[in-house]
Amino acid sequence: MSQWLITGGTGLVGDALRNELYQSDNCLHVFFLSSRDCDLTDKEKVFKLFDEFQPTHVVHLAARVGGLFDNLKNNAQFLETNLLINTNVLSACNRSKSVQKVVSCMSTCIFPDGQQLPLRPEFLHNGLPHISNMGYSFAKRIIDVQNRIFFSIDKPFLGLIPANMFGENDNFDTENGHVIPSLIHKCYLAKRNGTTFFIKGSGNAKRQFLYAKDFAKIIILFMKSYNDERPVIIAPPEEQCILDVANAIAKLMNFTGPICCESSMEGSQKQQQVDDGQMIKTADGHAFRSLFTDFQFTPFDVALKDTVIHFLQNVKKGILRGTHFHDY
Ligand code: NAP
Repeated sequence: MSQWLITGGTGLVGDALRNELYQSDNCLHVFFLSSRDCDLTDKEKVFKLFDEFQPTHVVHLAARVGGLFDNLKNNAQFLETNLLINTNVLSACNRSKSVQKVVSCMSTCIFPDGQQLPLRPEFLHNGLPHISNMGYSFAKRIIDVQNRIFFSIDKPFLGLIPANMFGENDNFDTENGHVIPSLIHKCYLAKRNGTTFFIKGSGNAKRQFLYAKDFAKIIILFMKSYNDERPVIIAPPEEQCILDVANAIAKLMNFTGPICCESSMEGSQKQQQVDDGQMIKTADGHAFRSLFTDFQFTPFDVALKDTVIHFLQNVKKGILRGTHFHDY
């Protein structure tokens, strides 16, 4: 019988994968791991976990993940924690006699800064990442190195490189969350308090946004039918400008107050670069689309609407990540 271990099983993607796996294959035995079950930075605990659970398939999602500002403030910790997690998990997979296949997760934000666009997997190790997330990026790039080494000894360890993700079980923290969940929360607060809806940066940066539910389906496809050491970028073709996303959120929330980009009023050019991150980082998703020609990404406006509705339905219950310390 297949036994799937999902590290990071309580996160944005882990939660989407839980729903997807239960719908698609209810015969599977799956363990969705949280940091409370096992601290993956602790090698002994990780090896013990694998010895006890004996997984056949591992989806490795666990990571210290954060938005631009969290990465900027804590680059060294992002490097150390993620290096430890990835090394321990992949080394346990290699050591295990039961593990047949591993799918691990990198990110399009780990590519070298100033790289020619669109980004392609073969550019991954071509230069330094953006200064804002140096630690996270190098720790994630090592997954590709580890996978290639294991692949060369006939271990099918695969890597996916998803674009910016969002969805229902996101971290809605206004400071440390990713751009979409933090904008949703900020817009909600601006409406409730009758204040301006502030957007950090110029609002002109563009991103490809991937709905976590789509990515969950894609992970299952790769686990079942992809066997290649080359990592694959997962990014929908459309790019959204941050200001347009903020306006769409405001519309969905019936927010009619002022919307303002913070660095359009204040700050040096250097500060604006920090606030925006990379202005554009188009990633080439053709390889995925030619592998799985039938796959349809959820339209961005539909995915955004579902995420906003989920936020509004749950924000007062205190169960959304990044909102519980507010008194709603
Ligand atoms: P997330 O929501 O922040 O969840 C992180 C998960 O990792 C949680 O389940 C957390 O467990 C677990 N974790 C963190 N530290 C751990 C530790 N020391 N030991 C055990 N578990 C630990 O992350 P996500 O957004 O779902 O991201 C999933 C993967 O996709 C990550 O590898 C991330 O780098 C990648 N990715 C994310 C994005 C994005 O926009 N979100 C974009 C590209 C790539 P607890 O909840 O118990 O702490």
